Amino acid sequence: MKKLKKASSPSNVLRYLWGSATATLVLTSILSWWLLSGSWQAWNSARNDVLQFDNFYLVLQVSNDLASERAFSNELVLSPQASKAKTWQALQESRQITDSDLQKVPANLLSQALLTATVEQLKRSRLSVNFYQDRVLQDPVEAQRAINAMVEATDFYHEALFQHTSEFLLLEPSALGPILRAQALGELRDATGRLGSQLLIPLATRTPIPLHNDEALSRGMERINVLWWLLRTQGDEAGYLPGFQKQLENTRQQFEEQGVRLIKMLHAESGNGEAYSVDAESFAMRYHASLSSFDDLLNTYLTGVKKHYVHAQQKALLHLVMVIAILILLCLLTSGLIYYIRTRVLQPILRLNQIATGIIAGDHQDALMDESTAKEVQELFSSLGTLGNKLREQTHLSKKLQRQSEEDPLTHLFNRRAFDALAGNLLLKASQATPAWLIMIDVDRFKSINDTWGHPTGDKVLVALAATLKKFSRPGDVIARLGGEEFAVMFLAPGHQDVMGYTSRIQNEIRRLRFAGPKGEAFSITASFGVTSGWQRELGDMLAEADAVLYEAKNSGRDKICGLPTSHA
Ligand code: GH3
Ligand code: MG
Ligand code: MG
Repeated sequence: MKKLKKASSPSNVLRYLWGSATATLVLTSILSWWLLSGSWQAWNSARNDVLQFDNFYLVLQVSNDLASERAFSNELVLSPQASKAKTWQALQESRQITDSDLQKVPANLLSQALLTATVEQLKRSRLSVNFYQDRVLQDPVEAQRAINAMVEATDFYHEALFQHTSEFLLLEPSALGPILRAQALGELRDATGRLGSQLLIPLATRTPIPLHNDEALSRGMERINVLWWLLRTQGDEAGYLPGFQKQLENTRQQFEEQGVRLIKMLHAESGNGEAYSVDAESFAMRYHASLSSFDDLLNTYLTGVKKHYVHAQQKALLHLVMVIAILILLCLLTSGLIYYIRTRVLQPILRLNQIATGIIAGDHQDALMDESTAKEVQELFSSLGTLGNKLREQTHLSKKLQRQSEEDPLTHLFNRRAFDALAGNLLLKASQATPAWLIMIDVDRFKSINDTWGHPTGDKVLVALAATLKKFSRPGDVIARLGGEEFAVMFLAPGHQDVMGYTSRIQNEIRRLRFAGPKGEAFSITASFGVTSGWQRELGDMLAEADAVLYEAKNSGRDKICGLPTSHA
């Protein structure tokens, strides 16, 4: 009982509620953290991709600038006196572009040692190229050295570039495809540039292509073919850079039709011992021109890939913002709900409980109650009152139904069904010392009463008889109308003497009853009694025995008590 009270006390309800709220909060926090950290990481990685690709773009741009500057340097070395000023000017502009792009490369991005070596070599190469600012080529060995010096500067830079690419790919393996293809594009620009360099001095000196240059030409062509092949592979870029393959093919065609054809022609002329049909300067210009679309190609590719990365970053950011917004909304909703339940449901219940407890204990609750609380209390009590009435009505109704199912409607005594159950129970309590007694009572010649005075008068007789039986009964006795004008009484009693007295008193009382017919005609009645007793017996057997004894009473002249040792009339 104590335990039950404790389980339903308000403090326990609060404790359970707070426990559930805390558990929900912890679970929500874990889920939120998981969602948030996932989105945050995705966004961070996308942001890093953009940043890294930006850097990669800058690094690769310098590689392209160097290839371009190399071409302008070659043109200066090979140019006749007349065009020196023009080629010098072009070279200066190209150098400015290289220097400015080199400045844009973030510090510490590339190996400092390699970068310093590149810059040193670039300075030296430029110095040797500067020699041709206003001098025409005279010593081919000297000129080749100047050309090679520029190639060396590019080599240093490329080493730094490769190193950076490897580091980048370690950080972002997913960027492998785009980075390799971008690198291949830079390499292609470099390789095609170097290819042309092999012909410059032989052309300028009008000598056959030396074996060394010839071999370099073959290696260069192989390298270029491998790069074309590599670039034909496509990854996700096929989706976001649909025109790239077409542009790549156009560039290749232009290079094959102009640059490669020119080299092959000059190579054949050299092999056949013929005079070259193109001079060194115009070869340098024409060959340089055949490479013009390489810059556009690299630009298109890098811009497209970067755009894609920026787009992915924006998507990741949007996703992150949405996750944050949803979580905030969820938090607000949960807090709102908890607040609502607390203030609108829980607190009023607790307050009303407190007030009700106080009122029951007789305390004045005025201090606790403002106007609205008083109204709430009033409403609560009115509802409780209505609820109580309803419950009482229900109980009353169910009791009435129960009674109706057990009661004889005329005499309001138990009916046969209830008698069987109650008398059966009483019989179970009987013992040898205190046996159960069953008296069966039947009105004598009742049919003639009905016939003489009418059925309603007969009913009055039955009601009066029932009242007589009730009058003499004690609490615990079971009195029933078994049917028609037949009644039964069962009770526990120690000896037959008492029973005899009791039955005789009923008999006499019945004899004394006075009735009036419809016109006031007076009449009285008698009844016959069959008595039996026992313990550890079946009720059915006792009823049958009492019935038999009653039959005896009828047969022996009625108004008799049969079944008792000293039965008398
Ligand atoms: P006996 O002395 O042998 O018992 O004769 P009896 O006339 O009392 O017995 P019998 O069984 O022949 O008649 C019983 C009558 O009781 C017949 C029936 O019409 C009448 N009766 C049964 N139930 C009711 C009732 O609820 N009200 C009235 N008024 N009469 C009833
Ligand atoms: Mg009868
Ligand atoms: Mg009778």
